[in-house]
Amino acid sequence: MAQIRNLLLIDQDPAHAELFRAALLDTNEGAFHDEWVQTLSQSVQRLDEKPIWAIFANTFLPDSQGLDTIDKLIQAAPGVPILVLAGADDEGLCREALRRGAKDYLLEGHIDAYSFGRAIRNMAERETAEQALFTEKERAAVTLNSIGSAVLSTDVSGNVTYLNVMAEDMTGWSRQDASGRPLSKVFRIIDGVTREPARNPMDVAIRQNKTVGLTANCILIRRDGSEIAIEDYAAPIHDRENRVTGAVIVFHDVSAARAMAMQMSYLAQHDVLTDLPNRMMLTDRVDHAISLARRNRGSLAVLFLDLDHFKNINDSLGHSTGDRLLQSVAACLSACLRLSDTVGRLGGDEFVILLTEVKHPADAAISARKILAALAAPHQVGEHELTVTASVGLSTYPADGEDAETLIRNADAAMYRAKKSGRNNYRFFDSRQDAPVDNWISVEAGLRLALERQEFVLHYQPKVNLQTGAITGAEALLRWQHPVRGPIPPLEFIYIAEGCGLILPIGQWVLREACRQARAWQDAGLPPVTVAVNVSSLEFKSSDFLSQLRIVLEETRLESRYLELELAESVLMQHASASASALNTLKSIGVRLAADDFGTGYSSLSYLKMFPIDYLKISQSFVRDITTGDYDAIVSAMIAMAKGLHKQVIAEGVETREQMTFLQAHGCDQAQGYYFSKPLVAQEFAKLLETGVAPFAPPACVAVPE
Ligand code: C2E
Ligand code: MG
Ligand code: MG
Repeated sequence: MAQIRNLLLIDQDPAHAELFRAALLDTNEGAFHDEWVQTLSQSVQRLDEKPIWAIFANTFLPDSQGLDTIDKLIQAAPGVPILVLAGADDEGLCREALRRGAKDYLLEGHIDAYSFGRAIRNMAERETAEQALFTEKERAAVTLNSIGSAVLSTDVSGNVTYLNVMAEDMTGWSRQDASGRPLSKVFRIIDGVTREPARNPMDVAIRQNKTVGLTANCILIRRDGSEIAIEDYAAPIHDRENRVTGAVIVFHDVSAARAMAMQMSYLAQHDVLTDLPNRMMLTDRVDHAISLARRNRGSLAVLFLDLDHFKNINDSLGHSTGDRLLQSVAACLSACLRLSDTVGRLGGDEFVILLTEVKHPADAAISARKILAALAAPHQVGEHELTVTASVGLSTYPADGEDAETLIRNADAAMYRAKKSGRNNYRFFDSRQDAPVDNWISVEAGLRLALERQEFVLHYQPKVNLQTGAITGAEALLRWQHPVRGPIPPLEFIYIAEGCGLILPIGQWVLREACRQARAWQDAGLPPVTVAVNVSSLEFKSSDFLSQLRIVLEETRLESRYLELELAESVLMQHASASASALNTLKSIGVRLAADDFGTGYSSLSYLKMFPIDYLKISQSFVRDITTGDYDAIVSAMIAMAKGLHKQVIAEGVETREQMTFLQAHGCDQAQGYYFSKPLVAQEFAKLLETGVAPFAPPACVAVPE
């Protein structure tokens, strides 16, 4: 049922009351009920009694006249629409009444049933429109307060008119406090990078009458001074005539998104393990440094650093220890450098260092030496005290390359030569010596053919008894005579052969050839010597290694006691207990066993004791530094330890007389190295067997240092 609307006419003229009733009967606008009173006081009483929908009031009443009537009615019935009835000359008064809150008026002369009817209809329509507007406003308010964005609006002069709850929250300003204040006070924004005030999007939106986005990296300074990263845009607000009356800014908190983006860009540029710049960032830095150097006619150096025998640490102590050692190395490198330098990690145990303040290559060499010395100090990793060495290659701008990639590649090639020349040292790039870095694929393809084409040969390096000077044996060292590239040293291809499994047939060939040769020397009447063959980890682990070994010994007719197998210490420690039983089986055949590159594999003493090893071969990286003093104590301790375990000791890489004397003085059994002889082809080795090694001086003639 339609709601009854009570209309109250306040007028002393009964004729008006008549017209009023007639108009109501006539109108279709729902159900109306009319009431008529003649004085203001009656009307106030009536208003008090029941709700009145609209008031039609004559300004001229017995108990009240003029605007006073209107004021009193507004006071008595706030919010109830009032239509003013006035004399024909009272238009001015009516207008003032409208200003004070009346809704409409009718002047004497126009007061008839039709005008009443039209006025009532207008009022009804207005009520419907107002209700719709209210609903709309309510909906807008609820919407604005429930969306995730902050909304703030201003008038055309940039004073704040509205903030939703989120905007209050983010700016720290309540709507009440903010209202009427200039936008720049409530919405203070700066550029996150320059920290200069940011362009206010609202000004632009208003001035250019278009929607604008916010400056990138915008930061909102809240009322309490704290900061939030925001993203926003502003749009002008128009009136019905399409004139700009203000603007609205919509903004939201992007701190989390921005932090995430920063984190992602950090991760994309840094190595997770060490937190150092990664290849991408390093390349950028080097390129940047090159462009600066080019402008200033300056120079710079790139150091490529690779840890020596790092794999051994991973293999023998586990990856987490390896990781922690890398972290320690990273920290050590960072500590060595100037602020202007950059150290980054390429992956694995490879680091690249950019030195920007390099006037002369000698400066870079000083840095390289400093770095090597710093690295050599023991690294405390958990309960382990680890020593590492590294090999470093250097390239300089502009001599060795004009871009980051070339400089890094050339430093890598130089590092490779540092490795080959015995590790724990540095080399400058030399375009004549450092061939472009090998392409694995082509090496692998070449290796597959090398066996067929008989491109492999063995060279033999004598082992010398340090007491008597006698040649006790030979180490067979593989050489690849590449048809195009010439001789390729084993360090350049063995790891590739291991990677693709080709080491198994190659190793078989080495074993057979070495045994055949040893037997041939004996058959030729030369003094019998042992021949030592290097066995890679893949061979050692291969299930038919043992049976193959038996077949080879049988076919070549070499007595097993003349064959020695060299296994890298790291390989032995990799699966120590499995190694022990495999070694025992090998031992039962009668071959001799040596732990190669001893000192680089972090042996556990208890395992060493358990392994049926005959010899420990002290790595040349320790021997080389005898007499420089760095490793003297270590070498003498190694010899003493080997003695304690009843193992023989062979020192590798002996190059000088001083090294030899030191080793003799400390009771080392045998030695091998350029000082006695380089590795030789079989024929020359046979001659050496007849003549003996030249430089040997018997211990009796040596002054033994204390
Ligand atoms: P390794 O078994 O430790 O061999 C000793 C290396 O030191 C040899 O390098 C030898 O030529 C070199 N050398 C000997 N005396 C001196 C010296 O006084 N000064 C210097 N600077 N170096 C010296 P080479 O022949 O380049 O072999 C390198 C490595 O390649 C060997 O290290 C061994 O691990 C591996 N290798 C060589 N032949 C074979 C093989 O037939 N099979 C396997 N699996 N590995 C092999
Ligand atoms: Mg060896
Ligand atoms: Mg060795």
